[in-house]
Amino acid sequence: MVNATVNAQDLRAILAYIAETIHRREADLNALDSAIGDGDHGITMRNGFDAVKARVAELPAEAGVDTILEEAGYAFMEATGGAIGILLGKSLVAGGQALGGRPALGVPELKMWLGAMESTISSTGKSQPGDKTILDSVHGANQALAPFTDDAGELVTALASAAEAAEQAAQATANMLCQKGRASRLGERVLGHPDPGAVSFGVILRAMLEWIQQNRPGQVST
Ligand SMILES: [Mg+2]
Repeated sequence: MVNATVNAQDLRAILAYIAETIHRREADLNALDSAIGDGDHGITMRNGFDAVKARVAELPAEAGVDTILEEAGYAFMEATGGAIGILLGKSLVAGGQALGGRPALGVPELKMWLGAMESTISSTGKSQPGDKTILDSVHGANQALAPFTDDAGELVTALASAAEAAEQAAQATANMLCQKGRASRLGERVLGHPDPGAVSFGVILRAMLEWIQQNRPGQVST
């Protein structure tokens, strides 16, 4: 078993694959947002990741994983509005900056990336886990990554744990009241409905995992 890493070319392909996945999930994400918001979350995510896909395709060949992720964040932020545009865009930028100079993504880099995302979302949104936001699923992913040591970790296994934890954390937001944004006025009407941003982050990690499993099968542990 080879310890898989994701190089810069892989990361471009992964971001394009996430964009395709978001297209397939757009209607679901809009429906989730209709329950607790204005029903446009899927549209926002689609616009954002279409912009990401276009931006990374035009970056110079020598762009590293740090630059690709940082530019993806700027593209997402510029193409979208609302809280999710700022939170996800800015945290992707921070994730890219945290990877400064790294040649590829392995377990340590995944932890640096998602750690930077969590602290940026928390400080930008002035939010805590439990507030029913995207932070809940990012926090869940980071908790799942904690046991994976930098030298012994296997990227596919670590990413599978992170994706699973993000999805579970997103579903758990259904039992929370909104503490942030316009939806905080809805009170108990939001119970039973997960936060769409938290669900989207699970979709992103699951798509990353799927791309690696489909394109690097020799490196996938069973
Ligand atoms: Mg909305």
